[in-house]
Amino acid sequence: MEQNLKNLVNGEFVEASTSERIDVFNPARPDQKVGSVPSMPKEDLERVFAAAAVGARTWKNTGSLERGKVLLSAAELIRERKNELVSTIVTEMGKTTAEATGEVGKTAEFFEYYGSMGRDEFGQFLPDGRPETFAARLVEPLGVVLLITPWNDPLLTPARKLGPALISGNAVIIKPATVTPLITLRLAEILHEAGLPAGVLGTVTGRGSKIGDALFEFDQLKAVSFTGSTAVGKDIQHRLSPRGVRVQTEMGGKNAAVIMDDADLELAVPTIVAGAFAQAGQRCTATSRLIVQKGVAARVRELIADAVRQLTVAPGETEGADMGPVVDEASQASIREHISRARSQGAEVVAENELSGAAAEAGFFVAPTFLQITPDQDLWAEEVFGPVLGMVEVDTLDEAIELVNDSVYGLSSSIFTRDLGQAFDFLYGVDTGQVSINQPTTGWDIHHPFGGFKDSGSGYKEQGHDALTFYTRVKAAAIRT
Ligand code: NAP
Repeated sequence: MEQNLKNLVNGEFVEASTSERIDVFNPARPDQKVGSVPSMPKEDLERVFAAAAVGARTWKNTGSLERGKVLLSAAELIRERKNELVSTIVTEMGKTTAEATGEVGKTAEFFEYYGSMGRDEFGQFLPDGRPETFAARLVEPLGVVLLITPWNDPLLTPARKLGPALISGNAVIIKPATVTPLITLRLAEILHEAGLPAGVLGTVTGRGSKIGDALFEFDQLKAVSFTGSTAVGKDIQHRLSPRGVRVQTEMGGKNAAVIMDDADLELAVPTIVAGAFAQAGQRCTATSRLIVQKGVAARVRELIADAVRQLTVAPGETEGADMGPVVDEASQASIREHISRARSQGAEVVAENELSGAAAEAGFFVAPTFLQITPDQDLWAEEVFGPVLGMVEVDTLDEAIELVNDSVYGLSSSIFTRDLGQAFDFLYGVDTGQVSINQPTTGWDIHHPFGGFKDSGSGYKEQGHDALTFYTRVKAAAIRT
């Protein structure tokens, strides 16, 4: 059944003031319309921001225990509606059922994690050398915060931002990606039902290129948390930072995994294959560069090539599917162009999965592709955001670290080795915000601070306790009794 949804404005789900809507299609079956959302005109945005300004005051003055209870109720509702949410993610974004189930479960965990922070202290008393004086460190919300999210984890990325933003008392306006807005509006329904007061959450739908400028104009706006491409993220940062609007950017990646000669290949190979091809490679932390020490390079090539050929590529709901389609036609065309340019620049295709069944007939599928490349080729440097892995060979760890750092991005990296000394040299030597030893570049736990260096991020972390830093300000008070 089609999901034709409305936006949450001032505590009610309402139509836009124009009838223009944006249709959403299933990337595995592009002729299947999954639903639609309003294309909000600029004048409607004013209502959302005005409501948020009032909501911010209400929510700031609601105790953190109460705020936490709302998030905990939302987590329960997410678990109750798991099947419906999974199906929405599979049909609008193209994930496999297993991937979407994981996303829904993790989303509930995020709300549980941040909901339980309602019991934490938000501030503390401090010593003061003057007589009869108490000093305090108060932690306050910022006010109205805008979240701009991409399509690749269309439920989890909003949750990762909503949890810390709401528990610390901000009013939030969220703008989801235009190809996958349905699941975000479903989440808004859940948060509304869980008891968020009017104005504390507002949703806006419409193409970023069309409504972005208007969104950033509002004086009420105190912060923007953006996840998406580096070009858009940097543009937002350059525009808003001079105005004093705080900006958090989580952007692109070109993540490298290193396999040393002493690595456990039974662990390394499946981990790297999953890191590169799960979610059709559409993860900011996806492994896209593989750096292998020469002693095991031939064996690694062979093992990864076999694994790539054996991946089951199919519509997301297919039993046993390892990988679904990519999100839309433009992504499919762009990924194919990356592969063909790599070939024309001399890259060797070591293995290419042969698409069959439904994946060969229709839908935005791309064959998982494993190439041997060199660092002077575009594929070494450019983010593909698709199921493509490029491998190079090295002699030493120093060379491997130099190559990991040979990127404008600095999001995630990993090394496979049994040697603790090598592992620590890697940990200290790489210029990435996330570093793994014998673990994938992907899949960071809820408690871990998350965020990239260089062109991958602005420095403010998401997840864990660190996430609260972005959404709060510290006020010092000295009180003479
Ligand atoms: P994108 O084109 O930058 O879009 C991301 C969001 O920004 C969407 O909601 C989009 O809206 C909006 N947007 C685009 N132009 C805008 C503008 N001028 N003003 C305001 N909003 C605007 O990125 P994407 O292609 O959807 O996502 C893929 C990228 O995200 C990759 O580079 C990936 O690495 C990155 N990513 C990073 C992380 C991380 O944590 N580091 C996580 C996931 C993804 P519309 O959809 O309406 O255009």
